[in-house]
Order: sequence, then structure tokens, then C-alpha cells
Amino acid sequence: MTAASSHPLASPLRQGQRRALARAITLIESTRPDHEAEAQRLLAELLPHAGKSVRVGLTGVPGVGKSTFIEALGVFLADAGHRVAVLAVDPSSARSGGSIMGDKTRMPRLTVHPNAFIRPSPSGGTLGGVSRRTREAITLCEAAGYDVLLVETVGVGQSETQVAAMTDLFVLLTLPNAGDELQGIKRGIMELADLCVVNKADTDKEAATRAQTELTAALKLLTPQGASWRPRALQASALTGAGIPEVWAAVEAYRQAVDIAAKRRAQTALWFDDLLREAAWRAFQSGVDAEKLRALRAEVLAGTLTPVQGVRALLSPAP
Ligand code: GDP
Repeated sequence: MTAASSHPLASPLRQGQRRALARAITLIESTRPDHEAEAQRLLAELLPHAGKSVRVGLTGVPGVGKSTFIEALGVFLADAGHRVAVLAVDPSSARSGGSIMGDKTRMPRLTVHPNAFIRPSPSGGTLGGVSRRTREAITLCEAAGYDVLLVETVGVGQSETQVAAMTDLFVLLTLPNAGDELQGIKRGIMELADLCVVNKADTDKEAATRAQTELTAALKLLTPQGASWRPRALQASALTGAGIPEVWAAVEAYRQAVDIAAKRRAQTALWFDDLLREAAWRAFQSGVDAEKLRALRAEVLAGTLTPVQGVRALLSPAP
């Protein structure tokens, strides 16, 4: 790409200017078609400069201490010289009218830290749309020199799967009362976790240790034979900071054990296929003979055609 066609935000963003980064994220969040084309050009220009961060996803039920934990881990890393960006996926923010995930007021020390950048969940749109914008924001933050990406998701619904699919490692925060907790944690979420952290260990050390033991056993059952990484359970206190360095050590151990480049390629391949499926479906819907579709569906429902025959009849060219 020649200098003349470079996007005006690209250079200041690469120099790490926050305002440029914030404006670039606003651009990718826009749903205006001309903005979208511009955003894709900017992303394509920045893509070669992205990819050099540790991408960590975090989840846990509301109240488990996600924002307190992200603040503690974020300040720990930012103090150590890392540049930390916090993003979020919270499709419910569309409905409640304001985005709460990644809200700056929930992370007061990190918000003012010179090495940190916090961006709330994009609001509005489907989970797919919110996820896509967060993925693109990851690219922008990396191009701006952030080397640790913390991506938060609320502990309900499908957003966990999306965040696990865009991060290198997925952390599940739980509470010391693991007996109750384990029942509340959906099996699917446990399966996504590379690391479980029993937060609020300061409130009941004994219970936290019990929870850690139970989680370790549960994770062991879920781990396939021969996996390069065995998910671990740790305990921490986001409030006192105890256990936070150990969490980061586990993240680093994970990155040693797992082929991150291969994992990211697989994630990108899946994402591409998802986008393709969506685009193909939209193209099909806009071109379909709606009358013929209604008639065939009615025949299938009436039992005069099998569903397979119905689909074939719709998709095969008229004789
Ligand atoms: P979120 O909804 O998951 O983001 O949870 P918050 O980070 O807002 O925390 C919920 C409440 O738990 C707040 O009052 C926090 O101060 C408190 N909290 C978070 N982490 C800890 C911890 O490690 N120990 C204790 N005692 N309280 C904590």
C-alpha cells in the first residue's frame, strides 16, 4: 500500500496515540456502509502490525469480581511495563441501552494508568455483530502496541463461546463456595476454560482451597488425553492482589505449552467460515423466490414432499 492511500488514523494509531485508537474503534463500530468500507481498509493496513499480544478472555457470573480482577491483573501488568487493553463482549448492553461491560468506572486505577486502554462493549446489534467488532478492536489495539488484551464477557448466554474463539486462553472466575458454584456453572463453560480462578479467596481461605480442589478434579475429567495443556485451578483475591502474579505465571505457562499461532489460524479459519455462511445466507434470502419458498414449505409441512426434496426443489434450477 502506498503512503498516499494510507488511512489518516493509521500512523497516529501505530504511534500509540489513544485518541487515534479510540476513533479507529468508533469507525469499526459504525454500521454506515461507507464507514464499513473505510474501516476494512484501515484494518487491512494495520493487520501486518497486529498479532503480537497475549489475548486473554475472562468470564464469570455477575458479582464474581470480574472488573475488580481485571483491574488488579491489569494494574499488575501495566506497572510491570506491559501495555494493557481491556475490551468486552456484552450483547445485553444493547438491550439495557448502555454498555456496562468494561465500563471505565468499574476500573478506576486502570482507567488512569498511562499503560492501559479500556473500551466498553460495543452496544447495539447481534452477538455476532458485537463479537466481530471486538475482534476487530483487538487488531487495532495490537497495532497500537498493546501487548496484553483482556477481553471480558458476562457469565450468561453465548458470549463466552465467542470470546473463547477470539482469545488465546480463557479464564473462568468462580467463587469459594464451589459446591453451589459447580452446579451453577454450565458444563459448556467449564469446557471452554483453560484456567479457573477461585476469586475472593480472602473471604474464606478454607472454602477457596476446597473449591480449588473440586475444580481441579472437574477440569481433569474434561481434559482429553494427550492435550498439550491441562486446565488448572488457582485461587486469588482481586481485592488484596494475592494470587494475581500466579495467575499471570499460569498464563505464561499456557503460552509455552500451546502452539498459539496454530490456534489463532484455526480461530481465523472458523471466523471466516462463519462470516461466509452468514453472507451466503443473506445473499440467498435476497435472491430467493419467496412465493416458491412458501409453497414448498407448505408441501413439506403437509407431508407431500420430504424436507430434502423441498430444499432440492428450491435450489435446483427450474427444468
Ligand atoms: P463483576 O460483576 O463480576 O464485575 O464483579 P465486581 O468486580 O463488580 O465485584 C463485585 C463485588 O465483589 C464488589 O463489591 C467487589 O469489591 C467485590 N470483590 C471483588 N473481588 C473481590 C475479592 O477478591 N475479595 C473480596 N472480599 N471482594 C471482592
